[in-house]
Amino acid sequence: MAKRDYYDVLGVSRNADQAEIKSAYRKLAIKYHPDKNPNNHEAEDKFKEAAEAYEVLSNPEKRQRYNQFGHAGASGGYGGGSMNMEDIFSQFGDIFGGGGSPFESFFGGGGSSRGGRRIVKGSNLRIKVKLTLQEIANGAEKKIKVNKQVVCTTCDGSGAKDKSSFHTCRTCGGTGAVRRVTSTILGQMQTTSTCPTCNGEGVEITAKCTTCHGDGLVRGEETITINIPAGVSEGMQLSMGGKGNAAPRGGVPGDLIILIEEIPHETLKRDGINVIYDLYVNFVDATLGTSVEVPTIDGKAKIKIDPGTQGGKILRLKGKGVPEVNSYHKGDQLVYVNVWTPKTVSSDEKQLLENLRNSPNFKPQPGKSEKTFFERIKEYFE
Ligand SMILES: [Zn+2]
Ligand SMILES: [Zn+2]
Repeated sequence: MAKRDYYDVLGVSRNADQAEIKSAYRKLAIKYHPDKNPNNHEAEDKFKEAAEAYEVLSNPEKRQRYNQFGHAGASGGYGGGSMNMEDIFSQFGDIFGGGGSPFESFFGGGGSSRGGRRIVKGSNLRIKVKLTLQEIANGAEKKIKVNKQVVCTTCDGSGAKDKSSFHTCRTCGGTGAVRRVTSTILGQMQTTSTCPTCNGEGVEITAKCTTCHGDGLVRGEETITINIPAGVSEGMQLSMGGKGNAAPRGGVPGDLIILIEEIPHETLKRDGINVIYDLYVNFVDATLGTSVEVPTIDGKAKIKIDPGTQGGKILRLKGKGVPEVNSYHKGDQLVYVNVWTPKTVSSDEKQLLENLRNSPNFKPQPGKSEKTFFERIKEYFE
């Protein structure tokens, strides 16, 4: 049988948008659905034909290939062009919005994994990790002992006393799911839901393990090595998959969530990727110039104070800040120069200063080159 044009199959124009295509397919899928047309091969063919057309036209890339090359261009990918029922039903989450589609039951007998045994997931575990500024700047490897739920070794996580004390669930026959017949807009439909007796696990326990009381889990501890990337900051959360609490009965463990806390540095203040240091020099050093040592994240650095340095000047130590997370970009250390004014003076000092008071060079003469405080701030932060 020659294939019909996909646009004809769905009854839409060649420039139909996605919403039109979806809506056209939805109507056909309901009309020709096998549950509504039992033992009707013509309906089944139409149903498959519509699904195939939708599969291609709903995918921009496949649609473009189809427009260009016809069926020859679009048929690759699903074995000679015709889709099986499983492919078709996998589209329905998209068409009918999420799970719980009324068609799910159609699969039930067909060997699908839907509505099958529930995989138990362990709960997430949260811990706090305190880091120094140096650890933040360089990244850190932390070995941390965490108390958590681990699989009970007595019962191997089954929760049962011994091999004879658990058996396949009688309600669901071990599938973990029960089927129900309900009425829907399409008529009588079967739906699948989690078995209430075994909670979807497929087994019933008659005698519980005495170590874990049937939970399959006990309290234990594990030393976990956490690699913290450079540049993290207060409040950031990192997640390690599978390092959280264990799950019983062969389930998957939860995640370990690591909350970052910063230990404040004694003298350096972090500001994003930069660090700030407040330097105090006396006005003699500011006037005559000097060289001073300042603390940095990894040690010390020598900096030069030029003669005639004004208070409020900001010196920049390039690359001495904190890196951005997952980047080679690094911040700077900013040194704020504060000129210290003596709060008390001896009579000798007072005499010396009095001699300078009316000296011509001591009269403030701010020129065009003197930036105001706000101009300096703008220069560094814009
Ligand atoms: Zn059950
Ligand atoms: Zn146990």
